[in-house]
Amino acid sequence: MSKKDNIVIIGAGLCGSLLALRLAQRGYKVSVYESRPDLRTTDISAGRSINLALSDRGFKALRLAGVEEKAREICIPMYGRLIHDKEGNTFASNYSGRENEYINSISRGDLNGILLTEAEKHENVTIHFNTKCTSVDIENTIAHFKSYTTEEDFSVDADVVFGTDGAGSVLRKSYYLEKKFLFSYSQNYLTHGYKELEIPADKVGNHQISKDHLHIWPRGQYMLIALPNLDGSFTVTLFLSYDEGEYNFNNLTSEEKITSFFENEFPDALALIPNIKDEFFNNPTGALGTVKCSPWMYQNKTMLMGDAAHAIVPFYGQGMNASFEDVTVFDAILDAHEGDWEKIFLVYQNARKEDTDAIADLAIDNYYEMRDHVANPLFKQKRKIEMDLESNFPTKYFSKYSMVTFNEEIPYARAMKKGRAQDKALLNLIADKEVTTSLDMTKEELKLVLRKVQEETNEILEEDKVAGLK
Ligand code: FAD
Repeated sequence: MSKKDNIVIIGAGLCGSLLALRLAQRGYKVSVYESRPDLRTTDISAGRSINLALSDRGFKALRLAGVEEKAREICIPMYGRLIHDKEGNTFASNYSGRENEYINSISRGDLNGILLTEAEKHENVTIHFNTKCTSVDIENTIAHFKSYTTEEDFSVDADVVFGTDGAGSVLRKSYYLEKKFLFSYSQNYLTHGYKELEIPADKVGNHQISKDHLHIWPRGQYMLIALPNLDGSFTVTLFLSYDEGEYNFNNLTSEEKITSFFENEFPDALALIPNIKDEFFNNPTGALGTVKCSPWMYQNKTMLMGDAAHAIVPFYGQGMNASFEDVTVFDAILDAHEGDWEKIFLVYQNARKEDTDAIADLAIDNYYEMRDHVANPLFKQKRKIEMDLESNFPTKYFSKYSMVTFNEEIPYARAMKKGRAQDKALLNLIADKEVTTSLDMTKEELKLVLRKVQEETNEILEEDKVAGLK
């Protein structure tokens, strides 16, 4: 096998374009097929969610491909959550007690554009837009396409095919249609969907609310969040049930109902969204779900990556980060086994599956945490102690959120296990009144708390091991 291997990548979204760039840097001949037009030259919505939270796992992969700085130039740092209550009061909750830890709002389209441009700088990369993959013959690694430009159907004979074609992956579909192997697959939708709205910039182009925060309006059964954009606007996302509760997507059918919903639940946000009716009716309602499947590979021929292999709900802000991390992990395995695709695929899948399952589960946990718990007094108390521990013992204490978001060297599965045990330990200590919950503890008191949390965490991890929970 030579580096000239004909590699086909289906889907030039965030994962596919980064993978194309990295494989091109390694000298492979890469052809990428994307069903949508080129988002750098066509005014299309870049896909799901206009902006996203980018954090350290994503940056690590971008660094590997030499595009970290370009991405940082278009980032807006968000240092914490700003929670809005119904009365319009706000309170801030930082993401970490360490100053250098924050997440970043970034435009999906602009980031995707950077990756496409960088990939295309390599003469061994060709990107075909407006070309939809219709199926893949996985035995013969032949991908079938339809061009929306010429209306023609054609096929491409590849050495290796990657499916980075998102949650509705055609390669994944070919796995279960071709029945070449036992393919396990689950897709679980939430009962909630989402809709994007906009808070425009003020008259001079400034942000109307703090751009240093991810804003959250948690209301139990529903929730609004907002992330800043570089042009002074915010992209607001409403998460709401399709058909349950007093307010839902199915019954918000008139301007009066929408306005009264926002007046009752999100009055301060409503005051900032001038086109609520038009946006509510014109913008699509998106579904939210988790996809888990196995295996991701077929022999030495095909491989699923990114959302195609592991779509998750967006509540940990990790779907893109995890998809970028796929490329980091894959690249290291390519280093070790270059020349043997079957081995590379097998080692990668075995190394990665547990971690992507973990972030999928953590993302579901955070769905409840964000819409409900962030406003809960016990949760606030726990977060306050965690912040104090992190700022006083920055190299000794890492909350679950910090491990997932800012510690790219800790695999997701490890972060989940340790983070859950730590949460349980802290809540036990608070409930048993073993930690003082006064707002300002001395360093000595905090040291004691740290020791108790560490001991209790280790005990819980030990009990889990005995009970057979990995
Ligand atoms: P996609 O981005 O879906 O890209 C797939 C590409 O394949 C697309 O360009 C598509 O047009 C193309 N394609 C599809 N089918 C075909 C076909 N048959 N032939 C050719 N091309 C095809 N993640 C974060 O890390 N942080 C966040 O804050 C965050 N917020 C989110 C908010 C929402 C509301 C949603 C829905 C998701 C969010 N995510 C977030 C998750 C993130 O969007 C995904 O994990 C990420 O886009 C996955 O990248 P991907 O390249 O695997 O898939």
